Amino acid sequence: MEPKVNNFEFCPKPEIVVHETDVLLIGGGMAACGAAYEADRWATPQGLRVTMVDKAATDRSGAVAMGLSAINTYLGENSVDDYVRYVRNDLMGIIREDLVYDLGRVVDDSVHLFEDWGLPIWKKDAEGKSFDGAQAKKEEIPSLRDGGIPVRSGRWQLMINGESYKVVVAEAGKLALENNRKETGVDQNLFERVFVVKLLLDKDDPKKVAGAVGFSVREHKLYIFKCKVALLAAGGAVNVFKPRSTAEGQGRAWFPVWNAGSTFAMAAEAGAEMTMMENRFVPSRFKDGYGPVGAWFLLFKAKATNGLGEDYQVTNEEESRKFYGKYVDSMGTCMRNHMMILDMKAGKGPIKIHTDKALGALSETMSKKEIKHLEAEAWEDFLDMTISQAGVWAANNMEPENVPSELMPSEPYLLGSHAGCAGIWTSGPGDFGPEEYYWGYNRMTTVKGLFAAGDGCGASGHKFSSGSHAEGRLTGKAMVSYCMDNQETVEFSEDPEELAKEIFMPMETYGKYSDYSTDPDINPNYIRPAMLQQRLQKMMDEYVGGVSTWYMTSKAMLEEGFNYLQMVKEDASHMCAENLHELLRAWENFHRLLAGEAHARHIYFREETRYPGYYYRGDFLPIDDENWKCFVNSTYDKQSGEWNVFKRDYHQLIS
Ligand SMILES: Cc1cc2nc3c(=O)[nH]c(=O)nc-3n(C[C@H](O)[C@H](O)[C@H](O)COP(=O)(O)OP(=O)(O)OC[C@H]3O[C@@H](n4cnc5c(N)ncnc54)[C@H](O)[C@@H]3O)c2cc1C
Repeated sequence: MEPKVNNFEFCPKPEIVVHETDVLLIGGGMAACGAAYEADRWATPQGLRVTMVDKAATDRSGAVAMGLSAINTYLGENSVDDYVRYVRNDLMGIIREDLVYDLGRVVDDSVHLFEDWGLPIWKKDAEGKSFDGAQAKKEEIPSLRDGGIPVRSGRWQLMINGESYKVVVAEAGKLALENNRKETGVDQNLFERVFVVKLLLDKDDPKKVAGAVGFSVREHKLYIFKCKVALLAAGGAVNVFKPRSTAEGQGRAWFPVWNAGSTFAMAAEAGAEMTMMENRFVPSRFKDGYGPVGAWFLLFKAKATNGLGEDYQVTNEEESRKFYGKYVDSMGTCMRNHMMILDMKAGKGPIKIHTDKALGALSETMSKKEIKHLEAEAWEDFLDMTISQAGVWAANNMEPENVPSELMPSEPYLLGSHAGCAGIWTSGPGDFGPEEYYWGYNRMTTVKGLFAAGDGCGASGHKFSSGSHAEGRLTGKAMVSYCMDNQETVEFSEDPEELAKEIFMPMETYGKYSDYSTDPDINPNYIRPAMLQQRLQKMMDEYVGGVSTWYMTSKAMLEEGFNYLQMVKEDASHMCAENLHELLRAWENFHRLLAGEAHARHIYFREETRYPGYYYRGDFLPIDDENWKCFVNSTYDKQSGEWNVFKRDYHQLIS
């Protein structure tokens, strides 16, 4: 196939908009909104400009978009040390304890702010009776800040009326941006529906950030952002692996389909050190609808059993101990998956969650009215987060209050804020942790002036929505501090015209070749983004441990996979785009490719099975603490396409 060039003969030249700012926030989710809120407090009095760029509409963007029923990180009466222990247990013993500790000591403040901003939080009254968020307000039960007692669904979680959670958080972020905009006299500092493609580095120091470039998904415009400091907070990665959903169900995944690994890819391309990219999250959720199980297991005390009616966590305990020893006792999320998977592979499925029995048990301790109310909340949990689950039940004539529902471990996702810890290696806070974990600014990556938060900040999972916001706030403050200390101008060397050519190339390709065949989908000169995505997903699924191999891979499988991956990468340069939406799909694929490659390279390097139930190295099935109780980190060389993967020491800071 001939190499593709873009001289804008078939695709109109986009308008090029150059925007100068000091602090650039890439993403508009929980972390970026937290960063906007905090950056405004410190930047505005100094006359520093803050800009946020989100590929979607910030009110409903990111993983919290549809609404959640619980805030999963609120320490309240718990100690920060215990929070670190809980995160370490769940993530199989390897986390950056300095980062987790640092988050634990501030996260509650973000939850208090959410409540100040209007988020209804479930409370208990003096007699211990529970009220949902709206009722609690009516009953004038004090706020958390003033000593109100939350309704906990688990030790770390609290219940909320969360259908407008993101809108509430976004409003505060947008008000902060608006304040900064007025005070610094700029015309615009919130760019929605602009997809950021890559970071731009300083021409004199290629280890320093100088800006970013992206395009509008609505207007034919290229955006170039010049900045002194930038935050990467564009979420995790979905659809890198073949999803379980096919045909009419395709598009349904547990992780929001719009987070395409941009954070990981842009960081790696810029030369930032990555960490724990071998980690992934495989949530076991309601089959096909991916409905949430948290409230059902934790609040309603539902039980899950195998096809023989056995508790698979009990029957598989001894077998699991053979390879995973003490890690069976901490029973992290991946270990629960592992035991479920053992049964499914042994033909002891289907695994079912007994929503029917859970509600039945509640009727023994509650009045009919209270049960009705709680039941309504239980079902609303699905409508908030996973409307499609209601569709699945309706389509299958199921009444979940009368019959159990099937559970299924999903395809893998890459993320760093839920029960996973893939991401970017960042500096710690400085006052806690060893020297080697600190290089000047909290959450700064190894690229100067580039920060990470939320799903992007690695080795520190279990932040969830509140923790991602709190981490965003930490970066907001640290970024302003960096800006104050580094006032010299930064300049990138890229020519805007060349950037436009590169980014709009898929549209030129489509324009040039689409008449070559009668069906624009079938064309020897290009590949459509949807097709390329399926090729990547199939390859990741079959060689890097997706659902079709029950998450199993090995050295030989990975090596085979790398060959295929190389070909997918080559073909990616022939992707076409009929319109701006497809251009978005094309660039999302570039990001998924790099995120997927990082994942595979890290799994290849770590010769053990650290996360059974998330993935298995068939050639190294046990956990090997002697050799692998360490971080696996990497850097990517954009020019050569080579990965350098290496170990970094893990330090236990909390006993
Ligand atoms: C299904 C699901 C259920 C969850 N349930 C809970 C729960 O019950 N309780 C809880 O506390 N937490 C929950 N979480 C976790 C919580 O949602 C995340 O921890 C949090 O949203 C992560 O914040 P973030 O800012 O890193 O990413 P996000 O909030 O996902 O934000 C990412 C942002 O980046 C933008 N973006 C992406 N790519 C680009 C690009 N290339 N250019 C520009 N912008 C881009 C997106 O539009 C979005 O605004 C859940 C997560 C998921 C996926």
